[in-house]
Amino acid sequence: MLDLRGCKKKRICLIDVDSSIPNLALMKLSTYFKKKKFKVDLIQLNYSGYPDKKKEETKIIDGKEYDKVFVSILFLPNKDAVKVINCKEVHCGGTGYNFRKKLPEKVEHLYPDYNLYAGNEYSIGYITRGCIRNCKFCFVRKKEGMLHIYASIKDFYNPKLPKIMLLDNNFLALPEEKCLEFLRQLKKTGKKITFKQGLDFRLLTENKIKALIDLNYDGEFIFAFDNPLDKPIIERNLKLWKRFVGNWKTKFYVLIGFESTLKQDLDRVYFLRKNKCLPYIMRHTNCYTSPNKPFYTDLASWCNQPGLFKNMPFKTFIDKRHATKERKMQTMKIIEDEGLKII
Ligand code: SF4
Repeated sequence: MLDLRGCKKKRICLIDVDSSIPNLALMKLSTYFKKKKFKVDLIQLNYSGYPDKKKEETKIIDGKEYDKVFVSILFLPNKDAVKVINCKEVHCGGTGYNFRKKLPEKVEHLYPDYNLYAGNEYSIGYITRGCIRNCKFCFVRKKEGMLHIYASIKDFYNPKLPKIMLLDNNFLALPEEKCLEFLRQLKKTGKKITFKQGLDFRLLTENKIKALIDLNYDGEFIFAFDNPLDKPIIERNLKLWKRFVGNWKTKFYVLIGFESTLKQDLDRVYFLRKNKCLPYIMRHTNCYTSPNKPFYTDLASWCNQPGLFKNMPFKTFIDKRHATKERKMQTMKIIEDEGLKII
């Protein structure tokens, strides 16, 4: 993919199919080719990653102006979203295409091209890659291996941008001293900081909490509550966390439809509501083909709208949500069949 012999047009096209934030891999490819004096064009398709959204038609892109075209696909439903014609070299990558495919080593560690995405406010990067865990539904450990330090902040920091976004998958799994040292360095930048992936609530300590809340944090803190069996440890750490952070300022990604029962899903959500934390429901792809899909849809709609979640019980939400009685009855039947207690 980096063989430049025969590249006469000196033009590269980068196609971002479905990233919701600037795509770091494409930004690094852009740096590589601009250094080689290529002109780089970006095409953003902004496709949704949700399996139940109307499937986008395959987009035909004419690549005749380009020596090479690179396509990034993050979500599986978009695997066939693009067809590039009239270009001899088309490279596809991204977790939605093949999670094992990596950037070449000499591109992987390049400083991102922050001019690629107009209006971007973030320095974006990873301090760590990999994870100490190996959750069945997650590809991180398979793709990136055990948790390891990957880069230093200066490798991706742009002092002209007002914010920093970390993409680390399990930053809090670093040994405490390392973790605190990086958090101090982040604070020292004076920038607004956000961790894009859900942080691991199970690994919080009082020192880590103090360092996190000492950051100029951008938005609410987001953690993961994927496994219902983690409730006791989440409950224990929540007592500690709430000594420092007020009501409704904490969000948890809640994975549903993987191996949890509907009862366990509801239980996690009600537990968070009782503790004045917000859930953000992440529906596993199983949800979209499950007979329980109407229930999953309603639960996600309620939880993922914080104003409604805080102020309206789920029962009222179901009563009010549906335009037809038939649709409401679909959810009510699942609730009844499963013996769920809805309040
Ligand atoms: S803790 Fe998070 S990043 Fe690590 S394997 Fe589990 S889901 Fe993936």
